Amino acid sequence: MSVADTIERAVDLAPLHAFVTDFGALLDTASHEHEILASGSALLERLIARDDWLPDAFAEPDPARYQQYLLHCDSRARFSVVSFVWGPGQQTPVHDHRVWGLVGVLRGSERVQRYATATDGTIEPVGAPALLVQGSVDAVSPRIGDIHRVANGQDDGVSVSIHVYGANIGAVARATYGDDGTEKPFISGYANRVLPNFWERSAAS
Ligand code: FE
Repeated sequence: MSVADTIERAVDLAPLHAFVTDFGALLDTASHEHEILASGSALLERLIARDDWLPDAFAEPDPARYQQYLLHCDSRARFSVVSFVWGPGQQTPVHDHRVWGLVGVLRGSERVQRYATATDGTIEPVGAPALLVQGSVDAVSPRIGDIHRVANGQDDGVSVSIHVYGANIGAVARATYGDDGTEKPFISGYANRVLPNFWERSAAS
């Protein structure tokens, strides 16, 4: 038995499978982004209300930087689901997404600072940093505010959040921002080469 088999059999992936099935059905019918964000938030809240379905391999921190593991990508890349894993003190650069996104905290907490582009082209903070606690969901998009910096809300522990985006986010050409507002092209990719296999059902029959 390979390591991947061992990992996949250790947890019940049914909640993740149900989530991606429900999210695909939502996108079959939703015609506006606000509908996707509102109904999608409710689906994500339900997924992160329990913490017994994420395989350890997709919650593994790296001492060097935060990790982003692809959990699922829709066959038409209408959405992707990603686990973000934050070690103590780790944070993203200021960055954008170019598509809608939902962020739900599964373990620990996240600190989010939003930014906007000022008239002179520089980047400036919008409001104070917000602390997202376990179970809460935040949203981004070019329509409602797309630029932010996300950090682990815990100084001494690992935090894990589940993100959903309106594209195969690891392949989207987007940007990070310097303090002077300069955009730097950025394609995030993913930390993993294999995905959770929630199609294996023989044990349930
Ligand atoms: Fe982000």
